[in-house]
Amino acid sequence: MTNEQAKKYLDWLGQNQPEEDMICPRCGERVEGKTATHALSRYANVMVCDHCGGIEALEQAGLVPAKPLKDWAVISSATWEVRE
Ligand SMILES: [Zn+2]
Repeated sequence: MTNEQAKKYLDWLGQNQPEEDMICPRCGERVEGKTATHALSRYANVMVCDHCGGIEALEQAGLVPAKPLKDWAVISSATWEVRE
């Protein structure tokens, strides 16, 4: 999967996340509480956990290397085939 495809999927996922107790698409951890109170990803229109939101802030500041979207837990753990 390319980063562009990953972003498309994550944007779609953002429209379909549960209102509570989501699984963070970036790290794969279950996040308790209302989804809307967590962090909006800087890379796609999808909510991530507070921890990942903090890491993204560091990435954007250039302090740590950015994690490619295709390496996000929800994508790298999937076993689907993508049409190229
Ligand atoms: Zn996370």
